[in-house]
Amino acid sequence: MKVAIVGYGLYGGYLYSKLKNLNKLKIDVYEVSRVKNKSQIHVKKQIRSNGKYEGASKGRFFGPGGTSNLWGGQLVFLDENKFDTILGNNIKFICKKFKKNVLDFFRINHNDTNKNNLISGYWLKSTKRSILNYSKPKTIQFYDIKKIIKNNDKTFSIFDRGDNLIASYDRVYLTTGSFEIAEILYNSNLIKSSLINFTDHISVPLVTVKDEKPNIFGNKINIKVSGQSIRTLRYPIFKEGFISLVFNEETWFFQFLKKILYPGTKINKTEKKSFFSELKFMMNFIYSYLFKKEIYIDYREWRLICDIEKKQKAIFDIVKKRIDWKLDKTSFNRLCQIQKKVINYYNLKSTLTKVDAIKFEKIIDSYHPVNFTNIDSNELIVPIDGKKIDGIFCFGTLMLPFCTYSNPSGTVFCLIEKHLDEFYFR
Ligand SMILES: Cc1cc2nc3c(=O)[nH]c(=O)nc-3n(C[C@H](O)[C@H](O)[C@H](O)COP(=O)(O)OP(=O)(O)OC[C@H]3O[C@@H](n4cnc5c(N)ncnc54)[C@H](O)[C@@H]3O)c2cc1C
Repeated sequence: MKVAIVGYGLYGGYLYSKLKNLNKLKIDVYEVSRVKNKSQIHVKKQIRSNGKYEGASKGRFFGPGGTSNLWGGQLVFLDENKFDTILGNNIKFICKKFKKNVLDFFRINHNDTNKNNLISGYWLKSTKRSILNYSKPKTIQFYDIKKIIKNNDKTFSIFDRGDNLIASYDRVYLTTGSFEIAEILYNSNLIKSSLINFTDHISVPLVTVKDEKPNIFGNKINIKVSGQSIRTLRYPIFKEGFISLVFNEETWFFQFLKKILYPGTKINKTEKKSFFSELKFMMNFIYSYLFKKEIYIDYREWRLICDIEKKQKAIFDIVKKRIDWKLDKTSFNRLCQIQKKVINYYNLKSTLTKVDAIKFEKIIDSYHPVNFTNIDSNELIVPIDGKKIDGIFCFGTLMLPFCTYSNPSGTVFCLIEKHLDEFYFR
């Protein structure tokens, strides 16, 4: 069987790694850029936005590895009870069933259980985040794929931007990122409207705390190192979001590491701290990491970040290549309420950021476009599990109905696993 994977990013790479050893398949991989870590300008795919939405301009990398060369590497699975009301049992069931396969793939030890009953996740080491670490095809074909046409013999032909026929396949996987998947489906006449609705939750620093240990939700903060990853914890708030705690960010040691690992990233201005206190932190951190398998935390300064689902939908206009993403007052007011509640309820004394310091302009999208509601079962795609359109399959965050509590990729990997189980491994 001849199979094409169009887009070798996080999900295309995962899929390829799983399929490459199957004898019955001949797999061709397509990429738009030869060079990795390119922005949308480089590949002439500029999507403009009317305002705050940075998911298209800053939230994607083109070229081999795609956005896996940029992402934060946090895997959270929607398999916990808190997701009942929000996502329904279907996704929860799929995540429960296939999470182990995903953790095995990333070589994460999954025997350690989460005793706190909070939302837990796994944070991959920065050197283990790119999908290129896990597999790289011998040959990649470099074309900007525009559309797919179904032939009478039930094969599918793929065409490049200049409308040239490239090749035909029995099965085509579209893993070009959510916006490009939508565009290719539209060009292929597989979705009718050029106006796609989607959502993306918002992420905002809630408070910064100085010289105070957190005692949040009565849990002792204990961040475990687990194989290639670190366990992360999130604290659900109400129904629509979570808060997470960010430590050690302001230390000289971490600022330095950031500079080395991510050249070109913005470095926060840190106060000059004494050489010896920084050295002490560094020694404690290394000792704790290597011998106690725990993250040593610097309580001199840390932050609480809040992520909530934005109520108002955004519109992606495929033809005009434009995103209309407004910040709604309801979400903003909700954030202010949450901030007040967190400060009062958890009795945080030395907060630096106050309620009125949350500014509308500071609130940004979290680069997780989900819930592409125009792509639904009436339009031949079922967003939940990448069901086939007679042989075309799409895997991207666009499949997920929501992302409130979560980073999306753990769940998308589980949906890929479900597909593989049904179509190849059963
Ligand atoms: C800063 C940041 C941090 C993040 N952190 C996390 C996190 O911690 N956890 C998490 O779960 N998610 C995180 N995300 C989101 C996550 O990175 C994305 O959801 C994920 O990378 C999307 O994968 P993808 O395969 O759909 O797209 P990509 O990884 O972007 O891959 C798409 C590929 O398709 C190629 N392509 C595009 N168009 C075409 C075309 N027409 N023809 C051929 N090839 C094409 C591109 O070059 C690219 O290689 C983060 C995102 C950002 C920006």
